[in-house]
Amino acid sequence: MVDLFTRTIGEYTTGRKGPLLFVIGGIHGNELSGVLALRKVFEQLKASAPLDFCGKIVGVHGNISAIRLRQRYVECDLNRLWSADEIERVKKLPPAARKVDERELIELLAHIETEFSKEYTDIVLLDLHTTSGPNGLFSIISNQKPNQVLASALHAPVLFDLAHALSTNTNRFMDEQGIKGIAFEAGQHDDPASVDNQESAIWLTLDKMGMINSESLAFDMDPYHRQLITSSSQLPHFVRVIYRHAISPEDQFHMYPGYNNFHEVYKGEPIARDAKGEILCPFSGLMLMPLYQSQGSDGFFIMEKLWESPL
Ligand SMILES: [Zn+2]
Repeated sequence: MVDLFTRTIGEYTTGRKGPLLFVIGGIHGNELSGVLALRKVFEQLKASAPLDFCGKIVGVHGNISAIRLRQRYVECDLNRLWSADEIERVKKLPPAARKVDERELIELLAHIETEFSKEYTDIVLLDLHTTSGPNGLFSIISNQKPNQVLASALHAPVLFDLAHALSTNTNRFMDEQGIKGIAFEAGQHDDPASVDNQESAIWLTLDKMGMINSESLAFDMDPYHRQLITSSSQLPHFVRVIYRHAISPEDQFHMYPGYNNFHEVYKGEPIARDAKGEILCPFSGLMLMPLYQSQGSDGFFIMEKLWESPL
């Protein structure tokens, strides 16, 4: 049993030179599917050794303090601290003045910096999440072609133009560090399928990065392809965020119940109320629920389906 309260969930390498896949589970403490999936992947890697494997995979807990409490964060959202400006601000604070989640950032960054400073042929960061609403299965990427190639390998919808609406998440960090990566939303928080989706995403990323030899008998990738292809079968492949409805607490925003992610909505459809009255949907498209509804400044997003990648 892995101690839940250490930073590292697992590491695996055969010593052969290659890329680094750095995976974070539980940046939000109530989203444990990534942590559970990482444990399964490391158990399987260790049970199957020796393997045709190159490079190194590292899996870590994101916000340990929040994971202990099984809540999104303790004092502030760790997933909104990843811009260079925020990191610099937090680093400059005297340690005693840092919030709990800011201390988590400092510890996590120390771990990342140590790992990233080693010799690798490539570095990819996979940041594992789940959503409060149903159908929350998609990859969030910054609009860079190598990220889209990686995300496409996971079969789930690829969301363009959300990463910069949520400007201080890990996508921003990936771009500023000059590394590739994906924030992967694997489904609803406590749905057991979310763990299977996360596990599949990790294996398919290892395969896409060329770290495992999927031609060898030790690795049968088909179950992981099947898991994500069937889970995504009713969902579009490429989507772009075209509208964000910003809210503040004074708005008393209330969305009418029943919407899911990717729910088709039309221009003029009454979809919510606030202190000023009923809110009509401003565009026809697909609904994207806020990643965290009862807090934060996102009411909802509208997406449009794309028939091909814009990159
Ligand atoms: Zn999350």
